[in-house]
Amino acid sequence: MALTKCPECGMEMSDMANACPKCAFPIKSNNVQNIERKNTDHVMFIVCVVVALIVFAFYWYEVRPTQIRQQCYFDSKNSKNKEILYNDCLKENGITRSIFSN
Ligand SMILES: [Zn+2]
Repeated sequence: MALTKCPECGMEMSDMANACPKCAFPIKSNNVQNIERKNTDHVMFIVCVVVALIVFAFYWYEVRPTQIRQQCYFDSKNSKNKEILYNDCLKENGITRSIFSN
C-alpha cells in the first residue's frame, strides 16, 4: 500500500482509497476500471450481434434462395411441366424469381 496525492486538494492518502478523505474527489480505482471493462464488453456484444445479423441476412437472402432454386430445379427437371413445377416449388418456399424468366 503506497501513498498518493489527491489531484484536487493535494492531500496524501492511500492509493487503495476510492475517494479523497478530505475533499471526496473520486480516485480512479479498480472499480472504475471494472466499469470501463464492462462498457467494452457491452460494445463487443453489440458488434457480435450486428455481425450475426449480417451473416444471417446474407444466408437468408443469398444462400438460401440459391439452394432452394437448385433443389426445385433438380426436383422438376425430369417432369414434362418442369417450368410450372419449378415455379410452384419456388412459391411454396416463398421465392418468386425464376431462373427461366430472367
Ligand atoms: Zn482531496
